[in-house]
Amino acid sequence: MKKVLIIGAGGVGQVVAHKCAQLADVFPEIVLASRNEEKCKKIAAQLSRPIETAQVDADNVPELVALIRKVQPFMVINVALPYQDLTIMDACLETGVHYLDTANYEPLDTAKFEYSWQWAYQQRFRDAGLMALLGSGFDPGATNVFTAYIAKHYFDEIHYLDIIDVNGGDHGYPFATNFNPEINIREVTADCRHWENGEFVTTPPMSVKQSFTCPEGVGTFNIYRLYHEELESLTKNYPSLKRAQFWMSFGDSYLKHLEVLGNVGMTGIEPVEFQGQQIVPIQFLKQLLPDPASLGPRTKGRTCIGCVVRGIKDGKEKTVYLYNICDHQDCYKEVQSQAISYTTGVPAMIGAKMMMEGTWMQPGVWNIEQLDPDPFLADMNAYGLPWTVIEDPDFDLL
Ligand code: NDP
Repeated sequence: MKKVLIIGAGGVGQVVAHKCAQLADVFPEIVLASRNEEKCKKIAAQLSRPIETAQVDADNVPELVALIRKVQPFMVINVALPYQDLTIMDACLETGVHYLDTANYEPLDTAKFEYSWQWAYQQRFRDAGLMALLGSGFDPGATNVFTAYIAKHYFDEIHYLDIIDVNGGDHGYPFATNFNPEINIREVTADCRHWENGEFVTTPPMSVKQSFTCPEGVGTFNIYRLYHEELESLTKNYPSLKRAQFWMSFGDSYLKHLEVLGNVGMTGIEPVEFQGQQIVPIQFLKQLLPDPASLGPRTKGRTCIGCVVRGIKDGKEKTVYLYNICDHQDCYKEVQSQAISYTTGVPAMIGAKMMMEGTWMQPGVWNIEQLDPDPFLADMNAYGLPWTVIEDPDFDLL
């Protein structure tokens, strides 16, 4: 009997627990652990079959090791925060357990994320005969797999990649973030980096935008170029790429609030002294904002996330767009979460399924585009995230 240990009981953890619970043959036993066990119990109560819950501080390696030894899982699905990636990887190595996450490691005190820290575990995972699958969410995650699938089936060589993440949903609040506010705000306020002619080029945050009309009537949105972690692994694994960019949609109200909050210092990550206490402004702000998990019932509309790839096939230039559209209300009906958590949690479950079933099982630390995209994409169709390919779409991008 293969057990899975899910760590993190936030918006994404809830979806992963639901989706794993739906597949009893692949995930016969599930343990959901988080800093606050009450949250795990609340999620457990929503599920169609019983799962175990546990309390753990994932910043603490000995605590993690003790829990993993007690549970004895086949693998850990890490859907806590990026700050915990390395401690959980350390605990997996110490206990001989496979590992999966959805976001790359970020130090708590520096708004900087990159794969170098996790790639440094390559030899240790290989030597231990263990697999670590990095970035099995939507972006990173499905977008990497989309790129791998397009490169495999449609091109001899890929040259230009644009990842476009549109959230056409509306939660009715003037300002709220769809996933962990601290991680979200750190991401969008960072300098933009995109890949061009063999190097990353830095531009000011949110300084380049264009209008994009999504297929299937999702709508027309302003999309802004920003840095996203999958650009680092995709440009390494596809060295033929001449340019790679990531675009995300933002509404005017979100941007106005973010600008004001930034101007008054509320998005800062340095502690400040307040009435005899040290507080980190962005953590205080997180406390004031709506809990992303509470947005589910209020969010209406659809997301549209996909990859536009231009390259060469049989000597001719062509373009391929592969995307998924996901409806916030449909997600809520199924797993009581909005589409942002859903589109992250389903690929996390599918990545774990690939490992549990042995479809993807190779020792070492892997970015998801390094594995065969075909079985993963077949499962996206089967488990709630169907996708569509358009060859030579009728739009032009910057
Ligand atoms: P939430 O903040 O909603 O949930 C995080 C969970 O982790 C909470 O239950 C939290 O506990 C728990 N946690 C935090 N610190 C610890 C700790 N030290 N020990 C144990 N548990 C801890 O975040 P989301 O669910 O929105 O996101 C989860 C992960 O998914 C993040 O890493 C995020 O970056 C990633 N993500 C990836 C995406 C992708 O497409 N690849 C998209 C969206 C998110 P508590 O409630 O006590 O704080």
